[in-house]
Amino acid sequence: MALYELTPRALVEGLRRRLKKSLGQNFLVDENITRAISREVSRFCPEKILEIGPGAGALTLALCSIGRPIHVIEKDSHCARYVREIFGTLDGFEVTEGDALEVDVPSFCRDAGERALLVSNLPYNVASQIYFRYVAEPLVGMVLMFQREVARRFTALPGSGAYGILSVIGQYHHDIETVLDVPPECFVPAPKVTSTVLRFSPRPRELPLAEEPRFFAFVHAAFSLRRKTLANSLNGFGGLDKARWAARLEALGFAPNVRAEALTRSDFLCIFRDLQSQG
Ligand code: SAM
Repeated sequence: MALYELTPRALVEGLRRRLKKSLGQNFLVDENITRAISREVSRFCPEKILEIGPGAGALTLALCSIGRPIHVIEKDSHCARYVREIFGTLDGFEVTEGDALEVDVPSFCRDAGERALLVSNLPYNVASQIYFRYVAEPLVGMVLMFQREVARRFTALPGSGAYGILSVIGQYHHDIETVLDVPPECFVPAPKVTSTVLRFSPRPRELPLAEEPRFFAFVHAAFSLRRKTLANSLNGFGGLDKARWAARLEALGFAPNVRAEALTRSDFLCIFRDLQSQG
């Protein structure tokens, strides 16, 4: 069958008997959704597209209309073989069979001139890990689908219950916008939860690269005791005890009982820069 005659449902039918729950295989069968994701991808005008977890190729099929080389990474050997059979004759189509958390990042992702974009309907169990594996690559953008609850944590603002490590570190790297919610019936088999597609546009770096790991460790420490004050959570971080943290936060103009979930990204950066400046 020619590619233009294929539909997401027909692609998924070809693999249906081989579905693996352990790999988060909920395949998209709604063409409106695959097209909407592909439209978001094309807004970034990518030169190359990296798709993680093509599965039966429903999203890959929609991405073909962008007319750019597509490289897919798929852990399941049946799916890898299936998409190779279907899309293998397309110009610039490449398949890496392996775990996206372990295989080498394709070299074109590191070459900023290539304007590579990452797109994925992510397997739920490794979704955040995959985001963090690719976050440091100089990509033109990412369009990723998460469980709605995880997506809400990425976009949450200070003071909301969903605000936490994922919000601060995600929003440090990217401007994050919600594209659309995807109900369970758009997949086969239907998952138990709603999914959400997010669009990630890179933000200018606010800290020197070498300081970022310590900043991320600082954010983790700040949220380590969610119900306690920030001074309590940071106790011991940077060699400062709780009393010295309280004094420092006060000197920077924060209330003594301030908690991590009330701080904006700029607040986190301000406290961190103060810590760095004092050695
Ligand atoms: N893109 C397809 C779609 O939208 O219909 C399939 C999405 S399905 C939610 C997730 C896909 O990721 C599956 O094909 C699964 O085999 C693959 N996968 C799971 N874990 C993976 C990993 N660590 N590395 C690469 N692929 C993975």
